[in-house]
This record gives sequence, C-alpha cells and structure tokens, in this order.
Amino acid sequence: MEKTYIFGHKNPDTDSITSSLVMADFETKLGNTNVIACRLGNINKETEYVLNYLGIEAPEFIETVEDGSNVILVDHNSPKESIDNLDKVKILKVIDHHVIALNTSYQLFYRAEPVGCTETIMYKLYKENGFAIDKKIATLMVSAIISDTLLLKSPTTTDDDINAVKELSEIAEINPEVYGLEMLKAGTDLSSFNIDEILHLDAKKIDFKEVQSIVAQVNTADVSEVMNLKADLENRMNEIINEENLDLFMFLITDIVNSNSQVIALGKSALLVEKAYGVKLEDNTALLKGVVSRKKQVVPIMTENA
Ligand code: MG
Ligand code: MG
Ligand code: MG
Repeated sequence: MEKTYIFGHKNPDTDSITSSLVMADFETKLGNTNVIACRLGNINKETEYVLNYLGIEAPEFIETVEDGSNVILVDHNSPKESIDNLDKVKILKVIDHHVIALNTSYQLFYRAEPVGCTETIMYKLYKENGFAIDKKIATLMVSAIISDTLLLKSPTTTDDDINAVKELSEIAEINPEVYGLEMLKAGTDLSSFNIDEILHLDAKKIDFKEVQSIVAQVNTADVSEVMNLKADLENRMNEIINEENLDLFMFLITDIVNSNSQVIALGKSALLVEKAYGVKLEDNTALLKGVVSRKKQVVPIMTENA
C-alpha cells in the first residue's frame, strides 16, 4: 500500500496536530495501514501540554512531500496554509471546518462542517463508522475542541461541539473546565519567545478582498503583560509590513478569561479596523469587545468592510 501523509496547516495549532494523529488512527481502523501523521511546523506550548499529558510523540515534521504523493488534509484546505506543492500531490481526503478555498481537477472525499473544530467532525466519523474511541483519542479530540472554541465560549461553538466535549470528557476522564483552563494557560506562556516569534505563533495571511493582511493572535490571561511589549511589537510589525508588502497587520491579544481582544492594527489599511468594528484606534490599538474568533469575527467582518 502506498504511503499516505496526513497533516494540518502550517503554524500548527492543537487541532491541526491532534487531528493528524487521530486521522491516522481512523484511517488505520478503515484498513489504510500505511499512513503517517505529520506536521508542517513546530508544536506550540498548548499542544505540548496535551502531548506531555498523554506521554505521546508529536507527529513527524515535514516541509514538503514528493510530487504525486497521497495526502490527507485536516484542519485546513487553503493551499496558502499547506505544503507548497499541493497542486502536484494527490489529495485523498479533506476533513475541515474552514471556508473552502481548494480546487481540484479530480474527485476526492471532502468532509467539511461549520462546527468549532475538526476534531468534532472526527468524533462524528468515529461514531458513524461504529469505531470505539479510547482514552488517548478522546483526550486528543477534546483538547482540540477546547482549544479551538476557547472552552466552548467562542461564537464558533455549535451544539455538536458541546455534545462532543461532554462525551469525550467522560472517556478521557477529565473535567473539561479544569483541564481546559490548564491547557489554555500553558499556551499563553510567552516567556521563552522573542517579539518576532510572538507575532508568528498563530499568524495567518488573509486577503480581505484587495487588502493583503496578516492577522496574528495570541491567547492570554493577562492582556497588560502582552501590551507591555507594544512598542517592540509595533516596530517588528512595521518591518514585516514592509518586507511582505502588506496593507494591514492585525495583532489580536485575546483575553481567554473575559472573551475580548485588544487589537494592534498597523499598515495603510489600518483604518479598516475602525470601520469594521465601529471603534477608534488610539495609539494604533482598540478593544474589540466579545471578539475572540478570527474565523468568525474577523475574516467575514473585515472582508465585508474592505
Ligand atoms: Mg487550526
Ligand atoms: Mg481547527
Ligand atoms: Mg485557532
């Protein structure tokens, strides 16, 4: 059997990492035994917490795969977020919860649902196929759902996510509130990162119509701690804007306790943030009340107003 590479997006988050591991298990259960869970970047601290909790290894790091290889995409479908030669490989399956940005000239298995996390779809796939979910798989799944939905508080959260967390927490033998907050907090420790690393921890290139942008995000339990770095963050953001010819750089400092984001917006299209959210940028920053989700509360609103 030919090898199949399974991976999530570049700059992987907990959903991308756990979904590649879980999908590898699922494919094996389906009889596809030559699968390998991969990642396209470094493990973040939140994901490290999950892997350490379970005592398991991270998926294999790959930068690219050979042309013609079989691949399965999880937690993404946009070529911008994938391997560079995505147009030269054979995509067997996609399991995802993002806007569809993929075009292929061949048929494939494509499962997308507007739910809070890829792992919620994986949970359904196990159920539909009558596959048992063991403690390890349940922990991987529930960790990702808690991560993507910020403990089911993000507006991306659906009833399916809530149901999945309920059942998976029991199998995983965790209290989702307690375990989840510990896990999220592990991900907010910025002490070992320099300014450039902080800006790239969770950064996505997104075009709001013609407005070429980067939207980066960090989760924190202490916004002021991150805002203390504002001058240095702004210097580096301006450099990146010049280097990458961007119109806008939005840096969201997301308060996981109160579910708000403080935004720092730079670039010649920064005023788009004022228009989109009805706020005034003072010193390039504003509080975006209730905004925690880039997918649901940034991309559509910014695109609409661009
Ligand atoms: Mg993701
Ligand atoms: Mg996800
Ligand atoms: Mg995310």
